[in-house]
Amino acid sequence: MRIVVMTGAGISAESGIPTYRDEDGLWTQHNMEEVASRKGYLEDPQRAADFFEKLREAKQGKAPNAAHYALAALQNRDHEVTIVTQNIDGLHQEAGSRDVIEMHGSLRDMYCDTCTRHAGVYAYPEHLDVASAVCFSCAQTGTLRPDVTYFGEVPRRMGEIYQALFECDVYMAVGTSGEVQPASSFMIFAQGYGAKAVELNLTRTDVSELYDIGWYGPASNVVPMLVGDFDNLLEKVLDS
Ligand code: NAD
Repeated sequence: MRIVVMTGAGISAESGIPTYRDEDGLWTQHNMEEVASRKGYLEDPQRAADFFEKLREAKQGKAPNAAHYALAALQNRDHEVTIVTQNIDGLHQEAGSRDVIEMHGSLRDMYCDTCTRHAGVYAYPEHLDVASAVCFSCAQTGTLRPDVTYFGEVPRRMGEIYQALFECDVYMAVGTSGEVQPASSFMIFAQGYGAKAVELNLTRTDVSELYDIGWYGPASNVVPMLVGDFDNLLEKVLDS
């Protein structure tokens, strides 16, 4: 069985990392257009770098929770499981997941907007001073930035993601509001090519009725419970 698991900010909420759109989410405190859009970044690259620096600080000391570990365990079963995440926190890898597709990049790394090369974590300073930082690949000054996808930019590895969606039997969305494109259309794409779609979220979302089946509650309860009884889950999903 081929399974694509798409995760969003909700899977990391119980690790202490705030989501974007919930009541205490990051967009209640920050202007998304200013700090995390392509336009905002071009207006003021340092403002965007400072915002992601705060996220990097906030991520310090945060550990994967039971939901991340359960998905890592699922990858070690008989099924072919592709994990695609919108998250930039690296917690899937810390829990032991392999080959995670980080479509929105990662807080670990830097990226050069001129030569489009990814600089390794070893080069990411504690404080990124955009104006003076020099890319060691193309020697440009002022073009290094966090290796994250800003709103208005194309996410990473889209070819691999659509191939996995095209081939999968089951598509599972975990802890995502379904409001950010293109991730929000993945379910429609996978369903269109014959997959069953499963939603796991704290509560029902605006797109819940489009899924074939859903389970609701905190990810750290629901994901391990379903992974623990995965064959039963698959039977229910395929019958839905
Ligand atoms: P979102 O904030 O739009 O939605 C979060 C979803 O998680 C909501 O539907 C909410 O009901 C659900 N949720 C909250 N707590 C939960 C829990 N304990 N268990 C299960 N579900 C829970 O987030 P999104 O849909 O992922 O939006 C996408 C954007 O958020 C992406 O661009 C992503 O990069 C970014 N983001 C990432 C992180 C991170 O790396 N941890 C944190 C915040 C935002």
